Amino acid sequence: MIDYIKEARALFPYTQSMRRDFHIHPELGFHEVRTGGIVAKELEALGLEVTKGIGKTGVVGLLEGAKPGPTLLIRFDMDALPITEETGAEYASQNQGVMHACGHDGHIAIGLTVAKILQAHRDELNGTIKFCFQPSEEGFNGEEIGGNEMMIRDGVLDSPKVEKTLALHVWNEKPIGWVGVVKGPVMAGAELFTVKLTGKGGHGAIPNLTIDPIVAASQVISALQSITSRNVAPLQAAVVSVTTVHSGTAFNVIPQQAELTGTIRTFDLEVRKKVLERFNQIVHGVGEAMGCKVEIDLQRVTPAVVNDNEIAGKVQETARQLLPDSNIDTTAMTMGAEDMAFMQEKVPGCYFFIGSNNTEKHLDYAHHHPKFDFDEEALVRGAALMAAATVDLLKSK
Ligand SMILES: [Zn+2]
Ligand SMILES: [Zn+2]
Repeated sequence: MIDYIKEARALFPYTQSMRRDFHIHPELGFHEVRTGGIVAKELEALGLEVTKGIGKTGVVGLLEGAKPGPTLLIRFDMDALPITEETGAEYASQNQGVMHACGHDGHIAIGLTVAKILQAHRDELNGTIKFCFQPSEEGFNGEEIGGNEMMIRDGVLDSPKVEKTLALHVWNEKPIGWVGVVKGPVMAGAELFTVKLTGKGGHGAIPNLTIDPIVAASQVISALQSITSRNVAPLQAAVVSVTTVHSGTAFNVIPQQAELTGTIRTFDLEVRKKVLERFNQIVHGVGEAMGCKVEIDLQRVTPAVVNDNEIAGKVQETARQLLPDSNIDTTAMTMGAEDMAFMQEKVPGCYFFIGSNNTEKHLDYAHHHPKFDFDEEALVRGAALMAAATVDLLKSK
């Protein structure tokens, strides 16, 4: 029986020095060259089979257990944000205008620590562990897709084929001692839409000879409100927001075109399907009934992160055994988006949260705040739980 907490605590000086080094030298999405270089070097030193350049700056390390079993991927994101740090910490960013303000520095350090723990127990391990150090979680940063999708495109889920996934986030909304592991949807999926309504322009005083896209747009906006109020069950969550409306140039001219943009948010895939279906029907139906030509451009920013019930249930069990003093929250959902959703769409997995704030130490600023910092005790708990959950999941089929 491995004492994960004890081993993670013994490795804490290593974890902390790694985390602080990454914090001092943050790099933006798809520019994690120094970071990825250190990750690769550390994994190679442990004897893992390392592949660089998966998803541009992504790094993958393969650890094969001595006993047969499935392949499990554990994901750690590596990118920082375009924020000027204001923590005043001794390990504050030396890369002006760039900051690890989401805690991904901690995730990388946790990943390397888990690799050390599991490598030392290779003889007892079932299956194969794919350590996935992902670039650009925070956005596309000039590319067509984000880091998670790009790693998938470059084959990270193949050879050996990944059967389960795990990922975590240090969570500053909650204190040290809190752990969030939820079955089903955890984070909302986001879509972005643009609707173009083309009518027939003309004189404001002769509307009968025009097709007015402004009147059509106003009807469309009103009708869209019925999706959340009449098509989605009252206890299900969905948002349909029209956030920009553009049309017209003069008080006496009926314009040719109106353009609407906005966002749709959902957790559940069935709800999403229903909302998108109704969105298309309503915009086309109402817009065309008003005489306009309708064009819809729907872009999926990120799907919802949906945890597999069985895997999440096992992680909950592992967490209860490993951290009996902790508050294991099984209801923690957030409207935040996360691109791990793409991998979890393809392979069943579990995304969990490790409470990381400490109000007494004033380490409780929100993620993405210039004063964001977390209690490094979260690194010990995160590494121990990730290592334990990995071993437990590999054992079970
Ligand atoms: Zn973030
Ligand atoms: Zn983050």
